[in-house]
Amino acid sequence: MTCIPFHSLFVSICLLILCAAETAQAQKQICITIDDLPTVSRSYRTSAGQEALTKRLLTHLTQRNVPAIGFVVGEKLMVQAKPDPAQIRMLTLWLDAGMELGNHTFAHKDYNTISAAESQRDIVGVDTLLRALLQPANQQPRYFRHPYLHRGNTVGKRDSLVRYLADHTYREAPVTIDNGDYLFSAAYDAALLRKDSTLATLVGKQYVTYMLDCVHYYETQADSLFKRPIAHILLTHANTINSFYMGEVLSRLAAEGYRFIPLDQAVQDPAYQSPDTYVNTGGISWLHRWALTQGKRGAFFKGEPEVPDAITRLAEGR
Ligand SMILES: [Zn+2]
Repeated sequence: MTCIPFHSLFVSICLLILCAAETAQAQKQICITIDDLPTVSRSYRTSAGQEALTKRLLTHLTQRNVPAIGFVVGEKLMVQAKPDPAQIRMLTLWLDAGMELGNHTFAHKDYNTISAAESQRDIVGVDTLLRALLQPANQQPRYFRHPYLHRGNTVGKRDSLVRYLADHTYREAPVTIDNGDYLFSAAYDAALLRKDSTLATLVGKQYVTYMLDCVHYYETQADSLFKRPIAHILLTHANTINSFYMGEVLSRLAAEGYRFIPLDQAVQDPAYQSPDTYVNTGGISWLHRWALTQGKRGAFFKGEPEVPDAITRLAEGR
């Protein structure tokens, strides 16, 4: 029997620990999803401004080779009941940048307040537009993102939506990392409209910290549910603040060991096959749906980062 000197054994163990740590880091994966395309902004309201916002947002992604998916709201493309070439051009910028486009309904109606039939009409409304747009590239829409993350407030409506999407070759686009980016963006818009760039920068800096806090919170939730890191799906919007600060959020995530993956890769994680019996009015993270299904209550959900009151007040013009 070969006798390994103690110091060699110690070095080997250290190397093993280091390798294991590196593997765990390398396994951190996240998919970036961006809702409410082409744009959602109070401060960029002209086509030229919206196009500038779109280009800035896409540059953050392309510079870092991030394969994102954008979810389109059909109504935003229309002017006087016809598709507006300027809005359509913004979507072609997404496609030219190599991004995928998905269905976020025509009128962004709240499924809690409409029937299954009305929701299906809302899905078809943008499906027709998207198919026409994607057809020259030999693509078709594959993913559906629920407005407000509302998946059905009754079992019947939930099942009806799931069946309808499957019948129309759509997959649901879940979200594991939910957040209030829209509130930060509304606050940022308010600061820009006041021409207060110092305030805007302050909101932007708080936003980056908040988004990372949200990632860390849901990382912990996933780790305690699955006992391993899962492939996360982050919800964001095509709004003003992301057009300025998405790059910083992405760089911070990359520095923490995150690899950016497309949605079809993320949903291959077996976590997304977890049972989900949640039927209620809340638009919540899929992690919380799975946790509630497993019977988790109270303490499990504690610690979700909150949007500071000052941001909410600014966002709401108070
Ligand atoms: Zn939306």
